[in-house]
Amino acid sequence: MQNTFSTIARYTYSSEAEIIKGRLEAEGIKVFLKDNITIDTDPLVSNAIGGIKLNVLAEDEAKAKDILKSISSYALDDNGNTIICSNCGSGNVSLYSTINSFKSFFHFIIGILFGTLPFSARYEYKCEDCNTVVDVKD
Ligand SMILES: [Zn+2]
Repeated sequence: MQNTFSTIARYTYSSEAEIIKGRLEAEGIKVFLKDNITIDTDPLVSNAIGGIKLNVLAEDEAKAKDILKSISSYALDDNGNTIICSNCGSGNVSLYSTINSFKSFFHFIIGILFGTLPFSARYEYKCEDCNTVVDVKD
């Protein structure tokens, strides 16, 4: 039997990739991260080399994608309720790392340098349908 790999997701930071890896492995899927060591050594190269690739065996691809979808298709608040978009009422709200582009990474660095960035602002919930950032009270 020939084992071929499928890349089912890419992540900017290995911490994100490790969380997803753990979730998939809990479902019995073998996960192979690629370039995570390189990116841990120098996170700035992440975008240049296409991020950390999350690879699974081709035979697990469909199952792994389903699990990924179930993780990212909706976000829950601390009480386990679906987070609803305050703008359009959609439940299609996902947790985003706000450091997902060079521009926001730049702002993040500025925030650290000048102490203007609270660490709680590193993640936000965003509506997939209308792109509204949803304010979650905690
Ligand atoms: Zn919305």
